Amino acid sequence: MPDGKAGIEELIAPLVAFRRDIHAHPELGFAEHRTAAAIAEQLRAIGLEVESGIGGTGVVGVLRNGDGKGSLGFRADMDALPIHEDTGLDYASRTPGIFHGCGHDGHVATLLGAARHLARTRHFNGTINFIFQPAEEGLGGAHKMIEDGLFDRFPCDQVYALHNWPDLPAGSARTRPGPIMAAADKFEILVSGRGGHAALPHQTPDAIVAASELALQLNMIVSRRIPPTSSAVLSVTQIAGGHAHNVLPAEVRLAGTVRTFDPAVQDVIEAALRDIAAGVALASGTRIDVSYNRYYPATINDAECAAHALAAAAAVCGDAAFAPDPAYTSEDFAFMLQARPGAYLWLGQGRPGKEAPLHHPHYDFNDEVIGTGIAWFTELAERLLPA
Ligand SMILES: [Zn+2]
Ligand SMILES: [Zn+2]
Repeated sequence: MPDGKAGIEELIAPLVAFRRDIHAHPELGFAEHRTAAAIAEQLRAIGLEVESGIGGTGVVGVLRNGDGKGSLGFRADMDALPIHEDTGLDYASRTPGIFHGCGHDGHVATLLGAARHLARTRHFNGTINFIFQPAEEGLGGAHKMIEDGLFDRFPCDQVYALHNWPDLPAGSARTRPGPIMAAADKFEILVSGRGGHAALPHQTPDAIVAASELALQLNMIVSRRIPPTSSAVLSVTQIAGGHAHNVLPAEVRLAGTVRTFDPAVQDVIEAALRDIAAGVALASGTRIDVSYNRYYPATINDAECAAHALAAAAAVCGDAAFAPDPAYTSEDFAFMLQARPGAYLWLGQGRPGKEAPLHHPHYDFNDEVIGTGIAWFTELAERLLPA
């Protein structure tokens, strides 16, 4: 039997250099032109068939071996965040206000490494599509690639992805069958009164009082409308209105987010939010307009694929297990999992003394886990497309 992990070690140094170059030159969603070009160049150098410009800046590299009809999709995200980096690293972002604060630079290096390794070892029979997607951070790049025919042009029986996870120690991995990341919804509410003199409140509907009532009522949806056995989060995150101490403002704006794992729970929350807005409007004499946007669905792992992801992780990580709970953050790999069965894995990258979480100005991807990630993708390919 071939040893799929042999030879990974010698790939690491150039991948770390590549990762740090991407880190120094971060690009926001759908603007990953330099990053995508560098990836395409690397994939071509390995000998893969490469297509660029899928769903904007997406890139796919195709690696075929043997006559097998089976196919897999392995995905990495490429985009950075609008955060000012504060790591002090010598390869820190050279673009003020843009930063690889979620480790997508590391995901790119890991998946390129897997392509390089599998192109050389070839202990599989079938087709592997290496998918580099744009705009994971809230802009739905995965959805755009699917709309652009991703799975028609590059058929995939199953799809897999990993995300580095600072809360887990380096060398460990977690996944789970069913929901692993939450659906993310965004609501924006405009409360309109008429505005007027603060000393004459009886002459104008009070948008501030109505908005306050709304913020309190919305915070009771999860505790009063959702069964205790289900779970959800609703947070009101913005409330803004008024400009003078003696003027009742004409408008107050509220915004917030809802996180759920079950579309039925999502439906209950949206309906309750709209009912409460209508009720408060009626009671206060204000006009209340609600905009409710379900931008990312829940990330739902196929049970069988989650078992494959775990078995592959157990073979290459010191500590691999099913996670008891999903995370309340969200992930647009959800769209790929709606289109194809697959699974998403959290790859531990925590280091003692360097605990900065994802999206924190001090965060940095841990290069030590690149090899583990490559070994996981390789193990999956060799198990699911046996030679
Ligand atoms: Zn992120
Ligand atoms: Zn991320």
